[in-house]
Amino acid sequence: MSAGEPGGSPPATTRDPRAGGAEGSANSPQPGRFELDACDGATAARASRLATRSGELLLPAFFPVATRGAVKLLTSAQVRSQLVQGLLVNAFHLHLRPGEEVVEALGGLHRFMDWPGPLVTDSGGFQVFSLAELRRVTDDGVVFASPIDGSPLELTPERVIEIQRRLGADIVVSLDECVQYPAPRETVEAAARRTLAWNRRSREEWLRGGSRESGQLLFGVLQGGTVRELRLRSLSELAEMELPGYAIGGVSVGEGPALAREVLSYTLEAAPRDRPRYVMGVGPPEDLLDFIAMGADMFDCVLPTRNARSACAFTRSGRLRLRNAAHARSEEPIEALCDCPACRTVSRGYLRHLFVAGEATAGALVTMHNLRFFSRLLAESREAIVRGRFSEFRKSFLEQYLAGENRAGRMPARRGPEGADR
Ligand SMILES: [Zn+2]
Repeated sequence: MSAGEPGGSPPATTRDPRAGGAEGSANSPQPGRFELDACDGATAARASRLATRSGELLLPAFFPVATRGAVKLLTSAQVRSQLVQGLLVNAFHLHLRPGEEVVEALGGLHRFMDWPGPLVTDSGGFQVFSLAELRRVTDDGVVFASPIDGSPLELTPERVIEIQRRLGADIVVSLDECVQYPAPRETVEAAARRTLAWNRRSREEWLRGGSRESGQLLFGVLQGGTVRELRLRSLSELAEMELPGYAIGGVSVGEGPALAREVLSYTLEAAPRDRPRYVMGVGPPEDLLDFIAMGADMFDCVLPTRNARSACAFTRSGRLRLRNAAHARSEEPIEALCDCPACRTVSRGYLRHLFVAGEATAGALVTMHNLRFFSRLLAESREAIVRGRFSEFRKSFLEQYLAGENRAGRMPARRGPEGADR
């Protein structure tokens, strides 16, 4: 596994972020190759590139969630045209239905869902622990009742790697035990210990079963709740496994924004510099910018798509509630400077009408806008890091964004456990 050398002074990239996610070509770098293009002077933010067998990811990057193989309401082509680089798909859901053997028979996940760019599958740990009933966790794995028909199912670390191998994503994640907050210290400690052991077994299966040979990248998962020494001890053991990347789990599980920042701050500081760091299940624009400043490279969250379906559009001046009567006669687009299909073609007044009338097209249009908002936010962050002005960019973005949020009043249930489709 060749990781880029973080030392020296790597040249600043001038690539167009739109190039990310292109299909691999004959001279593509080896999957797993990770290179730092620029490190911010004032924060720990970094601009980097990760090669996958479906093209290079320009990091930091945000992955919208295609829970069951589709970003809700959109075709893959519509998602791609919002300059989304990669998607997260839930292996757990595809395992339940239609089953990894069906996806494999239909040519693998990329072909199945018409997505040529990078795909991540998560292990299903989060879904099992947040969704499934009647579960029993042992050191061997987890036994639970299928949420579809109640039949008993078992997932072991090895089985989860096999499922993801057959699905065919570019980045796969170890099975972990995710504990909600708050939980007793012994519970958090046992879950962190078990997760470490499961990471080891996942790695063995990844090596033995042909996943690594095929270019699939395994990301280990870190747990440890909000207990500093537990996180750091787990991280140092995990780093010894020399995996292609590290995912930080158990954040945004009910602990609140302040504690999440504290945990990520010391975790990211101690994480290996020469590997990508993936913060799972996050999140709001202010969290993304703060975590990028701490050195995070990758994110996924249902926030842009779920908010869109409930008539909430992200803008530079905070979120816009499109059901509000104030928009009834508005000729304005969601955002004048946005190049998405919604902003180029329709008014707030029209979108409000569609939402009030219950037309699904409204959700589709706002989903495209929100995906474009997130892809632009990440591309601009990367550009700012490369140009050595990330702090200014973050400050000016947050001033305008949070002022708008405060004017509008915070939406309830901004974060916290989100159930099945993270
Ligand atoms: Zn737009």
